[in-house]
Amino acid sequence: MNVVTRFPPSPTGYLHIGSARTALYNWLFARRYGGHFVLRLEDTDRERSTQQAVDVILKGMAWLGLDYDEGPYYQTQRFDRYAAVTAKLVEEGKAYRCYCSRERLKVLREAQMVAKEKPRYDGHCRDNPDAAASGNPPVVRFRTPQEGAIEITDGVRGTVTIQNSELDDLIIARSDGSPTYNLTVVVDDVDMGVTHVIRGDDHLNNTPRQIHILEALGAARPVYAHIPMINGADGKKLSKRHGAVSVLQYRDEGFLPQALLNYLVRLGWSHGDQEIFTPAEMTGYFDIEGVHQSAATFDREKLLWINQQYIQTLPMAELRDHAAPHFVAAGIDTSDSARLETVIDAQRTRANTLVEMAEKSRPFFGELDAFDEGAAKKHLRPIAGPPLRDLRKRLETQDPWTPEALHALVEEIAAAHELKLGKIAQPLRVAVTGSAASPSIDVTLHLVGREQCLKRLDKALAYIDARTAAA
Ligand code: GLU
Repeated sequence: MNVVTRFPPSPTGYLHIGSARTALYNWLFARRYGGHFVLRLEDTDRERSTQQAVDVILKGMAWLGLDYDEGPYYQTQRFDRYAAVTAKLVEEGKAYRCYCSRERLKVLREAQMVAKEKPRYDGHCRDNPDAAASGNPPVVRFRTPQEGAIEITDGVRGTVTIQNSELDDLIIARSDGSPTYNLTVVVDDVDMGVTHVIRGDDHLNNTPRQIHILEALGAARPVYAHIPMINGADGKKLSKRHGAVSVLQYRDEGFLPQALLNYLVRLGWSHGDQEIFTPAEMTGYFDIEGVHQSAATFDREKLLWINQQYIQTLPMAELRDHAAPHFVAAGIDTSDSARLETVIDAQRTRANTLVEMAEKSRPFFGELDAFDEGAAKKHLRPIAGPPLRDLRKRLETQDPWTPEALHALVEEIAAAHELKLGKIAQPLRVAVTGSAASPSIDVTLHLVGREQCLKRLDKALAYIDARTAAA
């Protein structure tokens, strides 16, 4: 099957979750069938389109690994082409110039509203040889068939029928000659050989209009699949109110692109009850039949769960590359790559995001600022003094400094003081990391290193001594 899909964002804002999912579905469909995925920037709204938004979209796609085979095309670079098509449609009588003034259209609309009719153009200039007499600068309208109906076979919605009487003669070129959305989309889809249009169902009402234009151009229809929207937990369309919606914000919050893709593919599509997909499985299984008919609900908890799965299983080199910037942002020196990897490995099961991982890894780098107050109060008590003091002495000369040997040492000290391992491990953990949560005590000691262990134990012992004195 010849497959060409496209992702045509309007660069008027960031790449949000909903558009990223649309891009992903188009990308997967193209990859699955060995087709082409086209990126097109629909920047005809010059006031709202910005280069910054273009950059953010390109960055977001690159971060997600959604590579395109063609483009990016920019609609603003294709105005001549749209003008030529418009001129041809006018010449063939499939479109016409409309000279109606803004005032006339306003009066018309108001009258329709009062009569509780759908506001629509009344065809005043459609077959009116005197229309030009007003001297108003004309727009170009498409001559929509007034009878009959358009039947759309939608991959998600099934058959959708729209009566042509519901539609009006839409503007395809404004009075300044600039083309409108429905024309540019159709011309581009035809020129770019698009075979499958997979897009949000907020565009479903444009589809019959676009099909009419396609037919006027004598082009074949692509396959349509209109995917349901994404809602927030409150059932309302996902928006800024629901928190992060920009893809790059998820990057900044410590999500892995693989995890976000996996989350997005399941947000509105399923393959049995499988939740985690390798890239090969995603491209191998994705199909339009699996797309759900009802709106999806965004669930941050589930995204966190998937992120944690990927943090656990991603090959180290990849995980390190994604994690390193977050460590740097947490003020950690990442120049020792082997050490960074050892710390990341110790934290794999302990963090839902890379930001959390970096935060929790601070004790393994540099100096310890202070003990967590609650943890110190709870665990650094006078009773912990003697075993910690003994241990501190033995750590001075401990060799080798390996998790195994450190484990044996802590056990030995616990036994000598007739304490359960936990009774010494917890105070020790607070002493060397400042908090009551860290990887296993042997790995923790190993990662903190001798010098810092001794220094921090001294501080903890001083704290305990002060408490003892005060008691
Ligand atoms: N530029 C449109 C948008 O961002 C895309 C429309 C389409 O997929 O045809 O919503």
